[in-house]
Amino acid sequence: MSIISDSLKRIKPSPTIAVTQKVRELRAAGKDVIGLGAGEPDFDTPENIKQAAIKAINEGDTKYTAVDGTPALKKAIVDKFKRENNLDYSIDQITVGAGGKQVLYNTFSATLNKGDEVIIPAPFWVSYPDMVLLAGGKPRIIKCTEEEGFKLTPKKLKKSITKKTKWLILNSPSNPTGVGYTKKEIQDLAKVLLKNKKVYILSDDIYEHIKYDDFNFYTIAQIKKLKDRTLTMNGVSKSYAMTGWRIGYAAGPKGIISAIRKIQSQSTSNPSSVSQAAAVEALNGNQNFIHVRANSFKDRRDFVVNCLNNIKGISCKKPNGAFYVFPNCKKLLGKKTKLKTDTDFVQKLLIKQNVATVQGSAFGLDGYFRISYATSMENLKKAMGRIKSFCESL
Ligand code: PMP
Ligand code: GLU
Repeated sequence: MSIISDSLKRIKPSPTIAVTQKVRELRAAGKDVIGLGAGEPDFDTPENIKQAAIKAINEGDTKYTAVDGTPALKKAIVDKFKRENNLDYSIDQITVGAGGKQVLYNTFSATLNKGDEVIIPAPFWVSYPDMVLLAGGKPRIIKCTEEEGFKLTPKKLKKSITKKTKWLILNSPSNPTGVGYTKKEIQDLAKVLLKNKKVYILSDDIYEHIKYDDFNFYTIAQIKKLKDRTLTMNGVSKSYAMTGWRIGYAAGPKGIISAIRKIQSQSTSNPSSVSQAAAVEALNGNQNFIHVRANSFKDRRDFVVNCLNNIKGISCKKPNGAFYVFPNCKKLLGKKTKLKTDTDFVQKLLIKQNVATVQGSAFGLDGYFRISYATSMENLKKAMGRIKSFCESL
């Protein structure tokens, strides 16, 4: 008899975390690796936020807190939703966890029964299907092609809803493609969802503030008739460069929020008190740096997309958000290059040129790879040169 549970055997370790760990190991072994695998801002947490945490420590804010968030942080989250999304929530409609990841994990654990289906448009963030599997649910992966802009169409959504569908996950701007859904696209999906009264929507808005050009962020809970069955997840990791602080949150129906609280009371008790104090300052403090940083991400995006499109065999669409691009490498796969899959491509790129990226198949769409451009321009220049040399050597 195995000591390991059956449910754990259904899942694999996170591939994005695995590549980040691999980069750490290669660097420790003295290799000059450029990491384009990790999905986290390279910027430091802003000074006012750090000071709020130091103050919290000095003032003894170091004890257990309420299970799903301090009243001050919940109030800051309620205010954020009103200010930025024109959404009204009461305090008991808010939950705070140790990162958006824990909020998602709690949500699936709290709501899925064996066999319940979750619609996950692909390319998807790597953790969604495994979290669903761990909770006993069934991921229903819907491939969204490059021609479709990597986005779910109303037609595909309609076809994928069954009697067992419990959730639809929407992630805009998206990890790994960087594409965002327009208001019109969300309204068109909503029309399908309004016809089926049972499906709940999990909107992962973690890249809300990382957007470019004239893209206007719109979230599905803004559609009044869907608000009561939408859980909107967000967090401070990406917008405020706070990945290590581990604070994420969600707003939605009271029943789901209290079910999440029950799970958290029996698992982590509460997110770190100090990180919560820092998150209050992040949400209530000066927001100007968000635009400054988004501008610098935009310069990097433009540079990377331009370089990639000048490499023979690679093509790359210009996305309007997040800090990822999802280039197509299908022309470089096949007999001639002896690379069968995108996994072969990224592995060989790492071995030959010391550039770490993540294969598209990890996100549910083969023939692509993900680049995170949340690193310095200097690194990006070096990396683009190496990727070009690699592709030309094939
Ligand atoms: N959703 C998406 C799409 C992500 O890319 C991430 C980043 N890991 C998360 C949720 C969770 O972020 P965190 O746990 O750092 O809040
Ligand atoms: N979201 C980031 C990524 O996709 C961080 C790693 C993770 O949690 O998956 O790379």
